[in-house]
Amino acid sequence: MSLFRDDGVVLRAQKLGEADRIITLLTRQHGKVRAVARGVRKTKSKFGARLEPFSHVDVQFFSRGSELVGRGLPLCTQVETIAPYGGSIVTDYGRYTAGTAMLETAERFAENEGEPAVQQYLLLVGGLRTLAAGVHESHLVMDAFLLRSLAVNGYGASFTDCAKCGLEGPNRFFSLPAGGVLCVDCRVPGCAVPSPETLVLLGALLSGDWRTADACEPRYWREGSGLVAAYLQWHLERGIRSMRYVEK
Ligand SMILES: [Zn+2]
Repeated sequence: MSLFRDDGVVLRAQKLGEADRIITLLTRQHGKVRAVARGVRKTKSKFGARLEPFSHVDVQFFSRGSELVGRGLPLCTQVETIAPYGGSIVTDYGRYTAGTAMLETAERFAENEGEPAVQQYLLLVGGLRTLAAGVHESHLVMDAFLLRSLAVNGYGASFTDCAKCGLEGPNRFFSLPAGGVLCVDCRVPGCAVPSPETLVLLGALLSGDWRTADACEPRYWREGSGLVAAYLQWHLERGIRSMRYVEK
């Protein structure tokens, strides 16, 4: 029997039986953790209210090793709220949809339970804080989070220098497999050619230059969002394919 304590962000809360929930968290020290919260679906459960998606919490877990505790998962025995980001996120459609995509992406990148993903955790906490504050457009906060999540997981994109030969930018030919823009000599068939302003925007989102990102025209926001989504999809799908290959 063991007790452990960690900070985490609630990614998901699924029903378990009549009154319980399985909570999925991205924690600071233990990566993705799934745990059972007992009695949280009863009305007026303060415990349950603290364990809603987007909440940043300090949790004490109780693990009984191999003994079955609700499907063998640890129990949440104490929960303290660090920051209830959900409050200002779920009441705004734009924030909610952006935030949901952020939680899902964080979970995909922290797939292996118990394996620390500290940088991903810190990015998620920072991203939700920014999203909840409502200072920047929600979709920009999401795109910045997605680009940085890709970067901390080894898929950092280049939006200025050539991703292949390093030729100093600006370069215009954007390639998903190459991981960013390519110069005239390195370009391959099938490159996208986004507006130069869009590439500046994406670089700004990756580096945290909010002044540039906020001031950008909406059409470049839209083009940038499309490229970020394609880049993320490309890596996640590739991830799934390579995992299937390993399992066989
Ligand atoms: Zn090149």
